[in-house]
Amino acid sequence: MICPKCMATNDADADKCRRCGCPLGAGNKCPHCGSKISTPVKFCTNCGKKLPEKCSYCSGILTENAKFCIHCGKKVK
Ligand SMILES: [Zn+2]
Ligand SMILES: [Zn+2]
Ligand SMILES: [Zn+2]
Repeated sequence: MICPKCMATNDADADKCRRCGCPLGAGNKCPHCGSKISTPVKFCTNCGKKLPEKCSYCSGILTENAKFCIHCGKKVK
């Protein structure tokens, strides 16, 4: 994945950018209960609440039903 800060290319499963060290796995946590989410799921496996979807290009949090990422402008798959 691409680091949203420095645009360095990192491994898809990296949790930190290898160039600038910023956390790439940010958001892999339920915002409601703080439980760690390891797989891309739509609902928290711990509390069952809906999780925000992330852009596959920049990992920015997407708004609900967004067709395009508000952070990088790429089409949401
Ligand atoms: Zn970086
Ligand atoms: Zn939760
Ligand atoms: Zn994006």
